[in-house]
Amino acid sequence: MSSGQFLKDIQGKIANQERLSREDGLALMCHPDLLSIGKLARQVKIQKTGKQVFFNLNFHINLTNVCASRCKFCAFGRDQADEGSYTMTLEEVLKEAEYGVATGATELHIVSALHPALPFDYYVEIIQGCRDKFPSVHLKAFTAVEIDYFSRISGLSLSQVLTRLKEAGLGSLPGGGAEVFSSRVRSQLCPNKATGERWLEVMRTAHGLGLKSNSTMLYGQIETVEERIDHLLTLRQLQDETGGFQSFIPLPFHPENTQIPHLKRTTAYEDLKVMAVSRLLLDNFDHIKAYWIMLGIPVAQLSLAFGADDLDGTVVQEKITHAAGARTAEGITQKELLPLIREAGYIPVERDTLYNTLKVYA
Ligand code: SF4
Repeated sequence: MSSGQFLKDIQGKIANQERLSREDGLALMCHPDLLSIGKLARQVKIQKTGKQVFFNLNFHINLTNVCASRCKFCAFGRDQADEGSYTMTLEEVLKEAEYGVATGATELHIVSALHPALPFDYYVEIIQGCRDKFPSVHLKAFTAVEIDYFSRISGLSLSQVLTRLKEAGLGSLPGGGAEVFSSRVRSQLCPNKATGERWLEVMRTAHGLGLKSNSTMLYGQIETVEERIDHLLTLRQLQDETGGFQSFIPLPFHPENTQIPHLKRTTAYEDLKVMAVSRLLLDNFDHIKAYWIMLGIPVAQLSLAFGADDLDGTVVQEKITHAAGARTAEGITQKELLPLIREAGYIPVERDTLYNTLKVYA
């Protein structure tokens, strides 16, 4: 089949709301006509969320960078004795959170490393403390990898861990730690943390308990195109089962300061291709997020023409990607976000963590 006919077939499937296959995904990911693929992805974005593009006012807190896992793609984790290692007390967390809430944040985004000595109770107390002090702020916390780790250090089941955190005030899960589910990739890059199957089990359990989450894919490290597509299709399958994913967030790998610094940062072309193909394959996801911290603001803005409908949040202070050499600012103001969305021809909508509309900037 000619490449033009292939794209016409994909267009027909989209018009008929027909699900794309693994072969479609592979062919799209390898197809050179980025602009036509972007146009198709934009069509799907418009079908799902019209002219609206979402953002929220949030604030990131990373409780500790001391990590027992030391994944090869991570520039954030440290050993306890390393220079720059830190662990926050509850008082320090509340002080930072107070600053974040004063900037207008409606969400605290809390993720950390896998500390070898802290007990599970530490994390419960942090959530409870934030809930008591900021009762109206949404607490989006802990990757599925951290939840798996809490289960291992506490001896509690996933369901018991999530229930204790939910009772303490946890509102949803952010979706990190998925990397690429392939066991080949994980055994080489992050053998000490939850497997892909376990990540999915955490999410299945969380969704079953009524906790929504996001989902991610860290691409541009050693994964193949097939492993990328299989990752997306695995997420699509779990979404069919639970409906608990709010969004998908493709995350380009940043090699600086990691154990694999020889790898090259992905190109803008590749970032936009992954964004568009994700929008096309994940037909049961309402939202595709362009996480500006990792993409950079220009590519994040362009992503709005390639199927993305969400620019994440104001963040205010970001440590994880900046440890890996990200050159974006650590935060962005609402005043800076609005023109980025308007310039791309969309209507900015401030949302809360669960995608309830807070304000439409018509
Ligand atoms: S990615 Fe997470 S688990 Fe892996 S080393 Fe970094 S902080 Fe630790």
